[in-house]
Amino acid sequence: MPENKKSAPVVAVDGPSGAGKSTVSKTLATAIDAAYLDTGAMYRAATLAVLRAEVDPSQTAQVTKAVKNAKLEFGTSPEDPFARVDGEDATLEIRGDDVTKAVSTVAANKTVRKHLVAEQQRLIGEAKKGIVVEGRDICEVVAPEADIKVYLTADPGERAKRRAAEVGADESATEQDIARRDGADSETTKPMDPPEGATVIDSTELPVVEVVAKILALLNNRDIND
Ligand code: C5P
Repeated sequence: MPENKKSAPVVAVDGPSGAGKSTVSKTLATAIDAAYLDTGAMYRAATLAVLRAEVDPSQTAQVTKAVKNAKLEFGTSPEDPFARVDGEDATLEIRGDDVTKAVSTVAANKTVRKHLVAEQQRLIGEAKKGIVVEGRDICEVVAPEADIKVYLTADPGERAKRRAAEVGADESATEQDIARRDGADSETTKPMDPPEGATVIDSTELPVVEVVAKILALLNNRDIND
């Protein structure tokens, strides 16, 4: 954890798919000149490594081996949050259908989670100017000492609309995919339950700037009260 918490805050943003976590977290990180970490991208990159190794995502031991053998690198600048797998840029490929279909299974692997959580904590420790970290278990597992904890959510229809626009897909197919992933992820990280101590923000009718303004207000309040 950074030493000077006032100027180097750790902000944890959890929530289900399509709630707006990425846009909000990147905008916030840029506004406060902090780093940004997309932990979902880390599970996606690990999944791509598994698929490239031609391992069945449900084969626990082989999945663990494939993930540990892969060189996974992540950019923590909100302007360029790249993902690399074995030295090659995979920023776009990790958003593809094959990875999206398999990621919940890989993310349910306990050894993979332990490995990635350790890496997430190392990257948070390196962020000397503070960091905004988004995911599903940040408030409770990855950064329980975070200065600000937010649970960002939105109605399922709105989440599907946003995800579909983002990836250029059909809205009803996306809604089904989100529901499937919410269900599968619920076995692992409880993405539908607000974590303890987190401020719940429903972004269904709020534009990004307003969500960011709410989190900035939480940060300002903390500075005043500290
Ligand atoms: O955020 P995104 O939808 O890209 O995350 C992809 C997947 O990674 C999730 O569906 C979930 O299975 C997994 N994940 C996780 N824990 C996190 C972040 C993502 O299990 N902290």
